[in-house]
Amino acid sequence: MAYVITRLCVDCLDQGCVEVCPVECIYEVKQAAPPERPNMLYIHPTECINCGACEPECPWHAIFEDRELPDVFAGDQALNAQTEEQPKLFRVASPHRDAEGRLQPKVRPTADDVRLNRKRWDDKL
Ligand code: SF4
Ligand code: SF4
Repeated sequence: MAYVITRLCVDCLDQGCVEVCPVECIYEVKQAAPPERPNMLYIHPTECINCGACEPECPWHAIFEDRELPDVFAGDQALNAQTEEQPKLFRVASPHRDAEGRLQPKVRPTADDVRLNRKRWDDKL
C-alpha cells in the first residue's frame, strides 16, 4: 500500500504535501523530462511509509491511498510508480520558500475551485 498523487495536482503544485512528508518521498519532474509528463508531484511507492500525513494537507484533495483511488484516476498509480522505474526523470521536491527561508503562504482554493478542478478530469461530475 502507498499513497498516490493524482492529476488533480496538475498545475496546482502548492507543495503542502511536501512540507509534511517525513521521509521526502514526494518528487517533481526534472526539466529534462519528456514534455508529456504531467506537471504534478509524484509519490515514490516504495519510499512512502503510508503515514497519511500528506492527504489532509492537500487543499485540492488530490492524494489518495492506492486502494481508494477513484476509477477515473486509476492510471495515476502507474504515473507515480515512474519515480521508482525511471528515477533519472525525477528529483525530490522541496517546499517553496522566500528569500529569508520562510515557507511561502498557500493560496487556499474554494470549494468551487476544487469541484471545477476535479471536473477537468472527471466529466461525470
Ligand atoms: S503517506 Fe506519508 S510518507 Fe507517504 S507521501 Fe504521504 S506524507 Fe509521505
Ligand atoms: S498538496 Fe496536493 S495540490 Fe499541492 S502539491 Fe501536494 S498533491 Fe499537489
